[in-house]
Amino acid sequence: LVTTTEFDTIAAISTPPGEGAISIVRLSGEEAILIAEKVFAGKDLAQVASHTINYGHILDPKTKQEIDEVMVSVMRAPKTFTREDTIEINCHGGIVATNRILQLLLSNGARLAEPGEFTKRAFLHGRIDLSQAEAVMDLIRAKTDRSMKVALDQLDGNLAHLVKSLRQDILDVLAQVEVNIDYPEYDAVEEMTTRLLKEKALDVKKRIQQLLQTAKQGKVLREGLATAIVGRPNVGKSSLLNRLLHEDKAIVTDVAGTTRDVIEEYVNVHGVPLKLVDTAGIRETADKVEKIGVERSRKAIDQADLVMLVLDSSQKLTEQDRALVELTSKKKRIILLNKVDLAQQIELPELKKLTGTDELLTTSVLKNAGLDQLEERIAKLFFGGIEDSQTTVMVTNARHIALLNQAEDALDNVLDGIKANMPVDLVQIDMTNCWDLLGEITGDSYQDELLNQLFSQFCLGK
Ligand code: GDP
Ligand code: ZN
Repeated sequence: LVTTTEFDTIAAISTPPGEGAISIVRLSGEEAILIAEKVFAGKDLAQVASHTINYGHILDPKTKQEIDEVMVSVMRAPKTFTREDTIEINCHGGIVATNRILQLLLSNGARLAEPGEFTKRAFLHGRIDLSQAEAVMDLIRAKTDRSMKVALDQLDGNLAHLVKSLRQDILDVLAQVEVNIDYPEYDAVEEMTTRLLKEKALDVKKRIQQLLQTAKQGKVLREGLATAIVGRPNVGKSSLLNRLLHEDKAIVTDVAGTTRDVIEEYVNVHGVPLKLVDTAGIRETADKVEKIGVERSRKAIDQADLVMLVLDSSQKLTEQDRALVELTSKKKRIILLNKVDLAQQIELPELKKLTGTDELLTTSVLKNAGLDQLEERIAKLFFGGIEDSQTTVMVTNARHIALLNQAEDALDNVLDGIKANMPVDLVQIDMTNCWDLLGEITGDSYQDELLNQLFSQFCLGK
């Protein structure tokens, strides 16, 4: 399964790059303590008790030059994240000192860890399963508390638990089929076997579909809900944006996979991370004469999962308003009648006819009225029944979703096969295929290639 060279001692900086009060350099492997000792002046690390933190200094063993004042945690296998001897050096931060400590460890016998290698070891040593490993990655990227909770649930192994029970059920049936196939002379047995397979296929399919339903919300939690604020000039878009951004909810993140200068804005609305689309367009024009044509809005609307259409209720409807109502009619949208603090001029009956079933939300962004309702509406749109359930397992990972879809296809093949009176041993192959696919979620049937690809997505030092 694994070659011994994979378990040499690895080192990496585990805290994010940049200046911080503390940085952590982590070592894992058989020689972790030995290597740390070579560069540490303080207590004898080989003698200290496991899971202790020890004060001292990092010295360059060649020059005896002091590099940093540190606290060193010593954690002996197997009660560690990687299940290997692990050292964590808490240093004072600063890129220079932290990098020098890492360099020292590397020149004294450690190897620079590949991205995700600590987590990979945890997996290879049986400390966590694959879905938990992926949850670690999601946790690093979690954008709001709610995203965090989903990632944490998965880390606890909720998804793994569920998938394992599905697999066990399938295995039970396969075992029975296997037994029955040994008695092919009895028609009654064949019939029973087929019925068994069919019932199980339908049952497992239903449970997989339930899991897949959570994937949509899961995607929102992971990636943020692309949200566009549209409306003709002067209706209050910028004001709304600023309200949303300023209530201590603004999360500015650079998104993985894009260049460092691309900054997207996120706001956390009752746990829904909104990723605001085209905020530059709203900002840019805030103090100029606005000329946002319908064309520009069209682009923002296209990209959005959710559109907030702002109308000025103190004015009569304009052609541009009508065009925007039409343009957004196929989108998930929330229509805001803003400026309710002013005398109302908007033609409500006409608007209601134009918008059909949409509930109209009245707000005064200026007077801070109606914004709580707006936030509740957003949360309700996306978390309907899920909100209250504490134990719901959410599938948030693209690989898991793909595997669940394939497993569902395999079950459809089982059902089609039964319908077409195919021999039981052929139907059995599709059922086994489903069992294998589910196993890939938890890593119970995995390939090296998959592993490497997966763990290489991790941040360095994880
Ligand atoms: P945008 O062009 O759609 O981005 O609109 P702005 O946010 O720049 O707002 C245009 C003007 O309307 C500004 O003077 C705001 O202060 C004002 N405004 C925004 N919301 C309200 C509101 O609810 N009531 C009133 N009375 N004025 C508002
Ligand atoms: Zn504006």
